[in-house]
Amino acid sequence: MLYVLDLYLWRGFENTCCLETLLGKQTWTKVALRNVPLKPGRSLMDWIRLTKSGKDLTGLKGRLIEVTEDELSKHNKKEDCWICIRGFVYNVTPYMEYHPGGEDELMKAAGTDGTDLFDQVHRWVNYESMLKECLVGRMAVKPIAALKGVLPEKRVLASSAKDLSPSYDWFQTDSLITIVIYTKQKDMNADLVIVDCQDKQLRVEIIMDDHSYLVEVDLDHAVSEDVAVNIAEKVGKVEIILNKKDNIQWKMLGQPREGHNTFIKRTDRGLFYRKCKLVSKTEVTHDTKLFCLMLPKGTHLRVPTGQHIYLKHIIAGTEVVKPYTPVLPFLPLDFQEPPCHDGVHLYLMIKIYSHGLFTQALDHLQIGDCISVSNPEGNFKKSQVQTSEDLLLLAGGTGFTPMVKLLNFALTEVSCLRTVKLIFFNKTEDDILWRNQLEQLALKDESRFEVQFILSQPSEDWVGKQGKISPSLLSEFVKRSRRDSKVLICICGPTPFTEQGVQYLKDLGYSQEEIHAFTA
Ligand code: FAD
Ligand code: NAD
Repeated sequence: MLYVLDLYLWRGFENTCCLETLLGKQTWTKVALRNVPLKPGRSLMDWIRLTKSGKDLTGLKGRLIEVTEDELSKHNKKEDCWICIRGFVYNVTPYMEYHPGGEDELMKAAGTDGTDLFDQVHRWVNYESMLKECLVGRMAVKPIAALKGVLPEKRVLASSAKDLSPSYDWFQTDSLITIVIYTKQKDMNADLVIVDCQDKQLRVEIIMDDHSYLVEVDLDHAVSEDVAVNIAEKVGKVEIILNKKDNIQWKMLGQPREGHNTFIKRTDRGLFYRKCKLVSKTEVTHDTKLFCLMLPKGTHLRVPTGQHIYLKHIIAGTEVVKPYTPVLPFLPLDFQEPPCHDGVHLYLMIKIYSHGLFTQALDHLQIGDCISVSNPEGNFKKSQVQTSEDLLLLAGGTGFTPMVKLLNFALTEVSCLRTVKLIFFNKTEDDILWRNQLEQLALKDESRFEVQFILSQPSEDWVGKQGKISPSLLSEFVKRSRRDSKVLICICGPTPFTEQGVQYLKDLGYSQEEIHAFTA
């Protein structure tokens, strides 16, 4: 089976990437997020077709070779472009015209090791599968370690951070198995613990800043699907309690799987997926739906505010992955977490594009069908809001989705916030997501919350604001409540919207620290 991701092989937003390449010649700073229009016949679907056509995409007639650094460096032109990722070399010339980020982005790594650049931008992109037919072979030496003359990062971390590494223990009664994980981290909470227990397989991942600790075993005996998770937040102790199916003594917890008992950087850990059932699909607007997915019984997973997940689904025999940002089932007016935010259901507000590869497939899912959902990702930190006095949210279309939990969190849990303002850009009135709920919320909390709708293609009846994101619109609506108040501005929407917005905000004098742009 081939895996495909319809996203840039690498792209980033205001990422500062300092990559010493394999040859030590190039350094890149500022990898810009660019969406380049693709020529007709160069869509993701067309790429899938080409890879399945049996055409020789490497020019080596299926032969795999060992590539030296010297050899790699010779293939640095568009018409002959090889790139090394994690020790494997790909001929990306046939892929050039299909790359949504454009040829120039790919060419940045031409004839070199692009691993660091790739990891900084889209570590989750399954390039192995997407470029499977472009595989030339392996590097003759391990490029990065050899070049930099240092130990691989994991090993450096293991020795220097040994005392800080979490550890685990387990014990049993006649009916229960308890696994105790000592994270040695004081502010542990339920958002940071992800448990999956299915078919005798147990996987517990604990997120600790940019690191991840994993307990992953094939259990010695069967357990029931009920899993309890207890967290002693202050001491950082996490207990996972499993119910034995049979009252027998276990000799061991189970056979360790690859990655068991490791504490590594999150970016070095592969994304884990579990199958979730579609339980409902309701209309939000003419083209946007709220999908409710149910997590499997043995799963404990909460998506933190400001983070997204990836959905993976087989389309035309190929696995396709796209990111989505979970929302709440509705905007609570009582400033409490909604009861349906129960840790069992996941709500996704998704716009269905008439020519969209993934959204069309999603729209065709039937109630009861399953789809794979990944662990959460994202670099937004709630603490950014907790220290602010003014929160300004700029959303374009479905760029509203990260604002939903953020809004609720800000209004329910952050007492130091004086003003919360949502400036919501849409094409037409019919496109405004949850307009009613937003207006009700603004009425309910008049003193703190304000919403402003701005339309780019309004009808003649529209009496509100119109236009696209611009310096004049921003200077009118983005203001501090006091001259020196601490402000956080969050922005999310179509890439040009976000890019322009960030630039205009900077031009208006807001600092990088005061702006958070949601991107993949
Ligand atoms: P594609 O096959 O990629 O596009 C096919 C055609 O659809 C395009 O040629 C174009 O005609 C049309 N199209 C696609 N995207 C757009 C667009 N933005 N504007 C205009 N036309 C377009 N989407 C949501 O609906 N809800 C979310 O919660 C959400 N969260 C996201 C989180 C992140 C971090 C990111 C990066 C994106 C998120 N998206 C979200 C977008 C989502 O990942 C997909 O890009 C989107 O669903 C389109 O996928 P597709 O395969 O159907 O369209
Ligand atoms: P849309 O096409 O309906 O546009 C909504 C508004 O955005 C427009 O009315 C306009 O004001 C503005 N806009 C659109 N194109 C613009 C441009 N070229 N320049 C300036 N402003 C522009 O939006 P949509 O179809 O709902 O798409 C929403 C986008 O948000 C998608 O691209 C999606 O990938 C992105 N998104 C990202 C995240 C994230 O990164 N976390 C989350 C959700 C959605």
